[in-house]
Amino acid sequence: MAYVVTQPCCADASCVLACPVNCIHPAPGEPGFAEAEMVYIDPRSCVGCGACATACPVDAIKPDTALAPDQQVFAAMNAEYYDVFSHPDRTPLAVVGKQRRLLGDRGEGEVAVAVVGAGPAGLYTADELLKHPEVRVDVLDRLPTPYGLLRAGVAPDHQHTKQAERLFGQIESQPGFRYLLGAEVGRDLLHEELTARYDAVVYAVGASTDRRLGIDGEDLAGSVSATDLVGWYNGHPDHQDLGLDLSHERVVVVGNGNVALDAARILTAAPERLVGTDIARPAYEAIASSGVREVVVLGRRGPAQAAFTVPELVGLVGLADAGEIDVVVETNGAGLGESQTERLLADLAARTPRPGLRRIVLRFLTVPVRVLGEGGRVTGLEVARTRLEADADGVWRAVVTDETEVLATGTVLRSVGYRARPVPGLPFDEAVGTVPHERGRVEPGTYVVGWIKRGPTGFLGTNKSDAAETVTSILDDLDAGTARRRGTTERADDLPALLRSRGVAAHGRRGWRAIDAEERRRGEAEGRPRSKITTRPELDEVAAGAKRPRRYAGLVRG
Ligand code: NAP
Repeated sequence: MAYVVTQPCCADASCVLACPVNCIHPAPGEPGFAEAEMVYIDPRSCVGCGACATACPVDAIKPDTALAPDQQVFAAMNAEYYDVFSHPDRTPLAVVGKQRRLLGDRGEGEVAVAVVGAGPAGLYTADELLKHPEVRVDVLDRLPTPYGLLRAGVAPDHQHTKQAERLFGQIESQPGFRYLLGAEVGRDLLHEELTARYDAVVYAVGASTDRRLGIDGEDLAGSVSATDLVGWYNGHPDHQDLGLDLSHERVVVVGNGNVALDAARILTAAPERLVGTDIARPAYEAIASSGVREVVVLGRRGPAQAAFTVPELVGLVGLADAGEIDVVVETNGAGLGESQTERLLADLAARTPRPGLRRIVLRFLTVPVRVLGEGGRVTGLEVARTRLEADADGVWRAVVTDETEVLATGTVLRSVGYRARPVPGLPFDEAVGTVPHERGRVEPGTYVVGWIKRGPTGFLGTNKSDAAETVTSILDDLDAGTARRRGTTERADDLPALLRSRGVAAHGRRGWRAIDAEERRRGEAEGRPRSKITTRPELDEVAAGAKRPRRYAGLVRG
């Protein structure tokens, strides 16, 4: 028996470290790890011990004897990875999570680190830092809830991925970990106020806004960004006033990355597929009564350049096989080659749509030209056909032709990538939308990790190796003495009082646990994992009502 990595591999490589025979690749440090859509188990070397399955935070690893029919394709994909790539120079085991540098041995006392942003990148960073017993980590977030895009980005029908909550729950329970939730750096606290109190400040603030299309009509009512839509169906308190009109038959999504596929799946989902998830209730009701029959997903380049990943496409094939939706492929004249993506698309293209089913149309070689509207609302999208041309670096680019048509629609969803906002007090590269850094170091004492560091790419688990790199830079600077608090006696313990004096009621782990328990309680009554609280005042109220232990002494650690 061999184990198989299936959907929803998070690529954090926990399994790689757990494997006693080094049969899971690509491993951190090996070519292709950072871009890998998933990791793969070599069926010929796997000894079937199951250590990887135990280590996997999202339950994506199964014995090949226990694969469901729609998971069989992953057995072939795992094996094929080793047939296609030979890796003679594989490093034995990469170092993620293995280093242990004992700062305390040098008598330097406690090290205090602030991590700004409680999403996956921030929590993996805290975890990496807390491997050193002398380090204390305060994790701040502007929201009263942690977990960032795990809570507010991962699609509600991907509950397996959301199981990473268990891992984050373990991270936040470690000694030396403290939350300050509900405090926004740059508004409630200044960067300088953090650097005065902490030996190191790490920004893990992600990319909270969307890239623009730059075409006419983009701001009409009914032209919606993926950031807003994803936040809406995931119950993010900042995105509940979306006012989405789903009375039209067709939605057009611009861009064909994984976010576009998430949105297309959710907007074509039958209510039964969503009812048992943690989808926000207003979104559930709107989608359950929606008139949408077709979601057209536009890729400006061809099938071979599609931005979605194979595991996500496999998920769509599974829905089509189960008779839940049709998936229609319109290559627009592009050929279909031999890559896994293209083979799956060819299989879909050969199918005949079934009457009565909602459908997702994957259309290629098409760009939006302008959003059309009447009375301030979207009525259609003018699109143009493209052709591919290789640039000087051999990269295929879409060249717009003058062949245009209008797709009638009431909703245009712009899903062309996220974009970070500048961090007050830090430099910002407007061209790429990231903070300039060297291996996570902005300057000694200030660091970045996650999307604000590398841009909006990669998967949940990509943040683990990313965090390891930034933490190495922090440790190097602490070793060199360049990252220590200098010339100040201010301590982080005064932050809750300082925030209160500014009218900001930040809370800690107890407040978050109260929200979590309340959401689970409401969810249980509705037969689903949780029912999210979606307004800021109610989130704050539930957190504030959390019972304090008798020996309460300020906002104690943990
Ligand atoms: P993405 O993967 O970067 O895809 C962006 C898409 O927008 C591409 O198809 C891109 O086309 C297109 N695009 C960009 N500018 C355009 C323009 N001006 N006109 C037309 N099309 C344009 O971004 P994403 O979907 O937002 O995903 C962000 C990251 O999160 C990705 O790494 C993704 O894999 C990850 N994610 C993962 C999961 C998962 O694992 N389940 C789920 C959601 C997100 P070109 O390729 O031609 O540039």
